[in-house]
Amino acid sequence: MPTTDVVAYCPGSFDPITYGHLDIIERAAKLFGTVIVAVATDAQKDHLFSTDERVALCREVCAHLPNVIVQPFAGLLVEAAHASGATVIIKGLRQPVDLSHEGPMAAMNHSLRPEIETMFLLASPAYTYVSSSLIKWVCGMGGDISAHVPAVVGQRLREKLGA
Ligand code: ADP
Repeated sequence: MPTTDVVAYCPGSFDPITYGHLDIIERAAKLFGTVIVAVATDAQKDHLFSTDERVALCREVCAHLPNVIVQPFAGLLVEAAHASGATVIIKGLRQPVDLSHEGPMAAMNHSLRPEIETMFLLASPAYTYVSSSLIKWVCGMGGDISAHVPAVVGQRLREKLGA
């Protein structure tokens, strides 16, 4: 049974959303009453897809999950999560290197807003090597990414990359 009154925040670039992201979102949606997929609008980062495109793709891919909401966010993660009513931040861990980035971030976020807990879900074995950047590279080189991203994402990626 999900913890119905808890709102969980799943932040990321989602450039674009992969089956690895979706796996984490689906698992979080079983645990928590509401899951907010929070798409970072970070202007510093060089995204392939615009914020609107990333949000739209996340919405399409998560359409089967009634307790999942997709929204863009800017600024400090803990403040955006708090403003949305979230008390949990969910992150996926693929490899030990993810923890070396995420650990200090979780500690800093805890110091900023101790009432918000960061929780980590281990990537499912099938997705431990899946990242948006690797998918873009493989797709750009004409490789088959159908096992790693939903069909609609593969289609938009090929259009974008002219692959
Ligand atoms: P990426 O690191 O692929 O560019 P994001 O910045 O969009 O992805 O990551 C958003 C969140 O999703 C992070 O917590 C990241 O660790 C997690 N994540 C990304 N890909 C996977 C995957 N294949 N399996 C589990 N978690 C993942």
